[in-house]
Amino acid sequence: MAEIRVLSSSVADKIAAGEVAERPSAVVKELVENAIDAGADKIEVEIKQGGVGYIRVTDNGCGIPRGQVKTAFLRHATSKLTEIDDLYRISTMGFRGEALASICAVSQVEIVTKTADAEEGTFLSVANGKAEEESLIACGDGTTMVVENLFANVPARMKFLKKDSTEAGYVADVLSRIALSRPEISFTYICDGNEIFATAGDGKLENVILNLYGLEHAKAILPVDYTEEKIRIHGVVGKPEISRGNRSRQTLFVNGRYVKNHVLSKVAEEAFRNRMMVGKFPFFVLHVDLPAELVDVNVHPAKTEVKFANEKQIYDVAYHAIKNALYVKEETVSVQEKSIEQPMPKMTVSAPISNYSPQPQRVNPILVREYMDATIPKEMPSVSSVKEPTPVKVNIIEETPFKQEVMEELQSVLEMDEPAKIIGQIFDTYIICQQGDEVFFIDQHAAHERMRFETLKESYQKKEKFTQMLLSPIVLNLDFREKQTVMEHLSGFLMFGFDMDDFGGNAVIINGTPVAMDESRIRDLMLELSDAMEQQRQHPIADFEEAALDMIACKGAIKANKHLSYVEMQDLVQRVAELETQGVNSCPHGRPIRITFTKDEIEKLFKRKL
Ligand code: ADP
Ligand code: MG
Repeated sequence: MAEIRVLSSSVADKIAAGEVAERPSAVVKELVENAIDAGADKIEVEIKQGGVGYIRVTDNGCGIPRGQVKTAFLRHATSKLTEIDDLYRISTMGFRGEALASICAVSQVEIVTKTADAEEGTFLSVANGKAEEESLIACGDGTTMVVENLFANVPARMKFLKKDSTEAGYVADVLSRIALSRPEISFTYICDGNEIFATAGDGKLENVILNLYGLEHAKAILPVDYTEEKIRIHGVVGKPEISRGNRSRQTLFVNGRYVKNHVLSKVAEEAFRNRMMVGKFPFFVLHVDLPAELVDVNVHPAKTEVKFANEKQIYDVAYHAIKNALYVKEETVSVQEKSIEQPMPKMTVSAPISNYSPQPQRVNPILVREYMDATIPKEMPSVSSVKEPTPVKVNIIEETPFKQEVMEELQSVLEMDEPAKIIGQIFDTYIICQQGDEVFFIDQHAAHERMRFETLKESYQKKEKFTQMLLSPIVLNLDFREKQTVMEHLSGFLMFGFDMDDFGGNAVIINGTPVAMDESRIRDLMLELSDAMEQQRQHPIADFEEAALDMIACKGAIKANKHLSYVEMQDLVQRVAELETQGVNSCPHGRPIRITFTKDEIEKLFKRKL
């Protein structure tokens, strides 16, 4: 047996450092949090070689007074009160005053710092935990920390690091989360000499999203802000089109601190049910602000998983917050009325598809500019379209500089009424329509399923009877187990619009169904529903009714591969337009109902245009 010895302080420091500074991204996190605590509103982070070679964090915060610079690197040195009144403090308390000490135990650190009232700043270099030299230096207000050769003296930890590009990715993740939580601070991230992102620091979350994830995301977010019983949920959720195949674009803050909470992710997904494709996960950046006593702090300080004292309550509030956001209409902009003469196409649907006022859009200059850049033809329309009247859009935009009036005019052009012309049906599955400068395809099954679903839901909610009585009742023979489960859930079936009864033996008799459907599909639906009801009994989900109505809608809907008459198509197109004005544009499983190509896009495909 080896002798029992007390570890030297330098070894102890290295072990402690393993927790605070386990990898470059953790070092960046500590340094950036210090910069935020110092009141900075501009923070620049630069790394090289995944952060192992070099990390620099520069802030314009309060700086450290000359006499205290050395002290800041001592273990347990902190200028911050340890308030036990919020989650952040509680969960990082284990590390209070330890970050700088830990970091400098495993690297070489240089600091340049100056307070506003000092004439000159201080330079200090610290290597392997020991302060080397201190001198005066001319510099601006704030602090720059440079950390080099991280873990060079801890080979074991060095081995545990991933390749540089992966570590750099972790740094980007950490920094983007912090940036999302602090839109009022401008963050710049530079990696190996390239600026990866820079946030504006103008206090607007949507701009942080624009800077981090690009225009596509910034265009597709909906604000969330909802308070109930001292619990406030705020931030943004993304429309289904920016959902991802994993949860990497879900960001949650509890009392300002980044955390992970699996169940809250589930709640968000639940709120998106019927609007999102199965296997897709919604984008969100959400803050949960609540009294500290409602958070279970019994978690390791370095861990990001959080538990709530009263889970159910928090989840209910979050669910409502997100649902509300999904259904709220956007703020209206006043748009100049403008009547534009349009030739009427011959075959038109009785109610033109954009006859319903579309969801008013906030006019965002960046988006309008982007739209214009993408849609304005740089040359006149090509040969085949010369016969058509030149679209008004082109005239306005080509000859007028970018001004407020242009934007308004553009907006009104976008919103003008144009009847949709049904071109026909292809593959017995899709309906093709032309409207203005667009051609679109409607998936007849998706559209019909959604229509059925909405009608069913409405009747169900209003407690109207929606049973379709069958001309002659059907007797269904089930097996023993199936019969048992169906009978156990008989009241459920009646509630969802079935008219049915026990028919002795293993049979049931069906007199009516929730929607008209093929006999062959009734049995499938019943079994699917009884499975779902059984499942619900064991693991209840919030939106079971919706899920059940969705199953019914799906089984009753027009299938793909069915020839439709013109009138049937007309009806479907019209209903799709109605649904779209209510913000519904996917089938209950989240598949899109319609896909649109602009004339411009088609011309690009044919290389008539660049
Ligand atoms: P803690 O943040 O828990 O106090 P640290 O070891 O991270 O512990 O920092 C020690 C102290 O150094 C802080 O309390 C603060 O006074 C000072 N400090 C560190 N970084 C900065 C900075 N960027 N600007 C101003 N002061 C800083
Ligand atoms: Mg700190």
